[in-house]
Amino acid sequence: MDGAVGGLKGCLKVRGSQIRHLLEAKDTFLFDCDGVLWHGEKAVPGAPGVVNTLIGRGKRVFFVTNNSTRPRENYVHKFYRLGFTDVRREQIFSSSYCSAVYLRDVARVRGQVFVIGGKGIRDELREAGVPFLQEEEQERRLDVDGQPQPDATIFNCDLSADVKAVLVGHDDQFTFLKLAKASCYLKDPDCLFLATDNDPWHPLKDGRILPGSGCLTAALEVATGRKATVIGKPSRFMFECISSQFSGVDPAQCLMVGDRLETDMLFGSNCGLDTMLTLTGVSQMEDAEVYSKSERSTEQSFVPDYVVDSIADFLPAFEELD
Ligand SMILES: [Mg+2]
Repeated sequence: MDGAVGGLKGCLKVRGSQIRHLLEAKDTFLFDCDGVLWHGEKAVPGAPGVVNTLIGRGKRVFFVTNNSTRPRENYVHKFYRLGFTDVRREQIFSSSYCSAVYLRDVARVRGQVFVIGGKGIRDELREAGVPFLQEEEQERRLDVDGQPQPDATIFNCDLSADVKAVLVGHDDQFTFLKLAKASCYLKDPDCLFLATDNDPWHPLKDGRILPGSGCLTAALEVATGRKATVIGKPSRFMFECISSQFSGVDPAQCLMVGDRLETDMLFGSNCGLDTMLTLTGVSQMEDAEVYSKSERSTEQSFVPDYVVDSIADFLPAFEELD
């Protein structure tokens, strides 16, 4: 299918038979979750039917999410609860799971990980067998005699000699002391600096926003003069994780479906995948068109090949396939 329309690269609004061609041409579908399959606890209408049908037709389906707050087991329950009844844990590649894989298999970190993050990250590290400082140890407010020291500060708190990596993810219990401790650990150039993702913010109801992990990472980057290695989208690592666990995943046969141009579409582009923007989430058609007119090559990589109003637009195409 020709991706050019109206003189613009990509941004091809597809429907009906064009979607059917894509469904025939691709054997692997990668979906972002929030804004594509659901909004918080509410499924995008039609999305469960689309995912269940793709799986039922023998397509390979993977989920790539920068949300580090849940372990995969918890995601499986959420998928099921919202009507995605055929999703298995092995299909879910979250930034917390992929960070644990990176620390175990790529960095092979020897020592402990200092975590700025929550339960999703700790559970995945534990399951991967990657040692990390427990929250109580991180937050230890005892003096050398083991007496409570409620006013621990960076001037008097303990620091572990065994920390060899700092991992930053979403942390709604973020404190100045955590930032200060992480900055001290990162003074050691051999201490790895990882971020689950670099998302700036997430939409909430009523126009409110939730600051993303990217803000916390940025604070630490300024304090240390170092740059974090980002595990989640748009970095390629999630796709490498998929390829290493499933044989024969061919980028040319994959479609990456997401709602955010700067992460999902760039991720697809970085991995050599065709990309599809769905308009049920953060980015809108006008945003894609602005990027498509840009002369900067990075911004060209934000431009989706295809656009749909919702992935529910796949449903009529399935009927035509029969
Ligand atoms: Mg999203």
